[in-house]
Amino acid sequence: MHDLIIIGGGPASQSAAMYAIGKQINFLMIYEKLGGRVDQVTPADRDYLVGSIVVHFDFPDAEDEEDHLIGSSAVHLFERQIKTRTGRVLNDLVTQIKREGDVFHVATKHHGVQQGVTVLLATGAKPRSLEVPGAGELLVGNLGYSVTTHSQQIANRSVGVVGTTEYALYGAAEFAQTAAQVYLVIPDTKIMSLPIAQALTQRPNVEVLAGYRLTEVVGRFKVEQLVVERAGQPRSLNVDVAYVDVGREPQSDLVKNFGITDQDGFVQTNGSGATDISGLFAAGDVTRALGEQVLIAIGDGARAAVSAHQYLLTQSAPRQLGT
Ligand SMILES: Cc1cc2nc3c(=O)[nH]c(=O)nc-3n(C[C@H](O)[C@H](O)[C@H](O)COP(=O)(O)OP(=O)(O)OC[C@H]3O[C@@H](n4cnc5c(N)ncnc54)[C@H](O)[C@@H]3O)c2cc1C
Repeated sequence: MHDLIIIGGGPASQSAAMYAIGKQINFLMIYEKLGGRVDQVTPADRDYLVGSIVVHFDFPDAEDEEDHLIGSSAVHLFERQIKTRTGRVLNDLVTQIKREGDVFHVATKHHGVQQGVTVLLATGAKPRSLEVPGAGELLVGNLGYSVTTHSQQIANRSVGVVGTTEYALYGAAEFAQTAAQVYLVIPDTKIMSLPIAQALTQRPNVEVLAGYRLTEVVGRFKVEQLVVERAGQPRSLNVDVAYVDVGREPQSDLVKNFGITDQDGFVQTNGSGATDISGLFAAGDVTRALGEQVLIAIGDGARAAVSAHQYLLTQSAPRQLGT
């Protein structure tokens, strides 16, 4: 029986594990993919696998790179510490979480059922993709993350942005600071009421195409045109580069039956990572943590681990210290 079972191998889980090591909590971390640098994931030489996603850093000068690699360097440092803890990590897929009495039963694909007094879920979220011809090959995904990464590439160029999230709007606003022209395609007009959407309509180099939907991405080796359509009327936009952010899908199926997810599937927590189920905590992108950034996930994971630790200390049974 473990005091704490951490599910996930991304920055939120790793910082939670680091906290658990520091406090000698008897923990077990179960992850499908542990974050780490992978050289051959894509042709680019600065791609990092952080949990389940590839984070790309591409800065022309070293000074910038230093600033932006802080999150990933921390994750790699954590990883080295965690890997040396024999018996504390399991590379496996968690298939089910059940609570029986005061004990969580965490079923894995290859290592049977693990038992824990507390569980910390940090399984992340997957970016949604756009199913239109050409999109898969030519669009740059996840505008919300890519703005800082790609800002140098869009200076004085024509940029298309397809977005359904507030992050997409902030991304478009950042692009507008250096791009010659930004075409902002907003299929769902609900987000037009946000102050950032209104601010964008005032920018001279931004054309907001509210209520339009993307029907095709045209280009041979790189994107050349976005074909959009509203009320049966097509329109072609000439662009040099295009970004898309149509939201994220939280990987929260494991706790669906606990009734702690919101209408979009994100795990609901209080400000400290606790859910409404006692002993069950969550952190990082699987929650609505503001930011969707490595550094924020690191803070979030540590905070949830503190909460889990405090919960353990309030239990009447004496805790056995981990090593
Ligand atoms: C394309 C892209 C680019 C990004 N670029 C940046 C950037 O430049 N800078 C930045 O700061 N942030 C960036 N982010 C955001 C950042 O990577 C995330 O905010 C951060 O990784 C979230 O950490 P996490 O630990 O919550 O989840 P994740 O890193 O997603 O980790 C989830 C973990 O859970 C594991 N897992 C899931 N389900 C199971 C299961 N059933 N059993 C076992 N393990 C499971 C996965 O294997 C993985 O280890 C980017 C994100 C994306 C998608």
